[in-house]
Amino acid sequence: MAPTAELDTATSPPPPHFVIVPFPAQGHTIPMVDLARLLAERGVRASLVVTPVNAARLRGAADHAARAELPLEIVEVPFPPSAADAGLPPGVENIDLITDYADFRPFFDVMRDLAAPLEAYLRALPAPPSCVISDLSNSWTAGVVSRVGLPRLFFHGPSCFYSLCDLNAAAHGLQQQADDDRYVVPGMPVRVEVTKDTQPGFFNTPGWEDLRDAAMEAMRTADGGVVNTFLDLEDEFIACFEAALAKPVWTLGPFCLYNRDADAMASRGNTPDVAQSVVTTWLDAMDTDSVIYVNFGSLARKVPKYLFEVGHGLEDSGKPFVWVVKESEVATPEVQEWLSALEARVAGRGVVVRGWAPQLAILSHRAVGGFVTHCGWNSILESIAHGVPVVTWPHFTDQFLNERLAVNVLGVGVPVGATASVLLFGDEAAMQVGRADVARAVSKLMDGGEEAGERRRKAKEYGEKAHRAMEKGGSSYESLTQLIRSFTLQEPKNSSSITVECSANRHI
Ligand code: UDP
Repeated sequence: MAPTAELDTATSPPPPHFVIVPFPAQGHTIPMVDLARLLAERGVRASLVVTPVNAARLRGAADHAARAELPLEIVEVPFPPSAADAGLPPGVENIDLITDYADFRPFFDVMRDLAAPLEAYLRALPAPPSCVISDLSNSWTAGVVSRVGLPRLFFHGPSCFYSLCDLNAAAHGLQQQADDDRYVVPGMPVRVEVTKDTQPGFFNTPGWEDLRDAAMEAMRTADGGVVNTFLDLEDEFIACFEAALAKPVWTLGPFCLYNRDADAMASRGNTPDVAQSVVTTWLDAMDTDSVIYVNFGSLARKVPKYLFEVGHGLEDSGKPFVWVVKESEVATPEVQEWLSALEARVAGRGVVVRGWAPQLAILSHRAVGGFVTHCGWNSILESIAHGVPVVTWPHFTDQFLNERLAVNVLGVGVPVGATASVLLFGDEAAMQVGRADVARAVSKLMDGGEEAGERRRKAKEYGEKAHRAMEKGGSSYESLTQLIRSFTLQEPKNSSSITVECSANRHI
């Protein structure tokens, strides 16, 4: 499909050009690629700046865009040579390729060395681009973009509910509280009580303070922000976030709804390790809303003991399921044998996908009626956008607050009962959730009854609103039109007209 030019080309300046700098982690890159495609579909030249390993992963998305004649390009810059000096193994250009905790901090440091190639690219362009949209985790881009003299928007991955909590807690120095200290987040339109363990946020660990400060500064100095959410989902939190930042926040999602055909869904993130048709054919034979889908995102790993609790819980729930386990989790013969035995016991009722799954194709299938999720914002939003209620099992960062939004504010979730953050590579010591919890939460979500019915009704209602938001005339569609105009015709969105009362007038 050729791009639809929204602007009056007879009188307007050359087509806008947006340069997009994703952070190399699936949960960050996937929405930014969707955003690039959304922009390209509206006639904007969209350039995604990535390193070679990540560029290879985007080949499917790039090919899809090329077939649709969209002005989307992948700009490849070399991964910094300083990676070797920092001790990073060759090829580790994405967070999901890190296998040693010791490599995380050097990874972020090495990323800063992309500043020079990004600056060289921006300066070499024949005409200055209209705008740079950069992930907030790439705070190093702030200096580059300001030196080159371009407008910059930050992209922040989580919900505005989370971002507002984070901003308000930081403004009051509350993130420095001891782990078990409870506090009420100030300045929220609803009462949100957290502990440091359920509001860990990003970079809030000793030794990471400089990154946290740099991200806050990059947010403060940006010309505005882009968030993957939509007005009808969290309007009061969006308004309060925008008011707290005193700059425009463009809510343009759910981005995932851009992926309308099977081809686009299949090219998202990674090539799926199971053919999309294998899963969808299995789902075709199942009743509507009968299957629970289980996937803990691109990063969170479970140790075998924990993995077995999930499997037993699904088996004990008696519900049909599609369960995705990561390659890294099935690396041992012990786990492989255990999974094969489980598959034999639940044959016809349960499917285990090993590796990368075509999540959107699964969530958009009519047979899927629930999602056990780790509450990464993309997963929650993808579920809501498809009218699918969730069992919430947060692991770290923003996920506990995303759970709070889904369960307490939106009323579309059942918590599994996780109460504290766990380690990324699996955490045997912090085993908080067992098979009985999984079976209970899945049954509660999937069984009939008034409460479950109400949850499902709300999820479907939000799903319909999400689709409307992305259609012409919808809030996200029109917001994108306005964003493009702002950076083409130099008419920035006026945030000074926003008046919002942000005080805790409801308890959740
Ligand atoms: N995803 C996928 N297949 C998988 C695992 C994840 O397509 O097997 C996608 C998922 O649809 C979402 C992203 O990866 O777009 C994960 O982002 P999220 O914010 O949910 O969690 P994170 O991976 O950042 O923890």
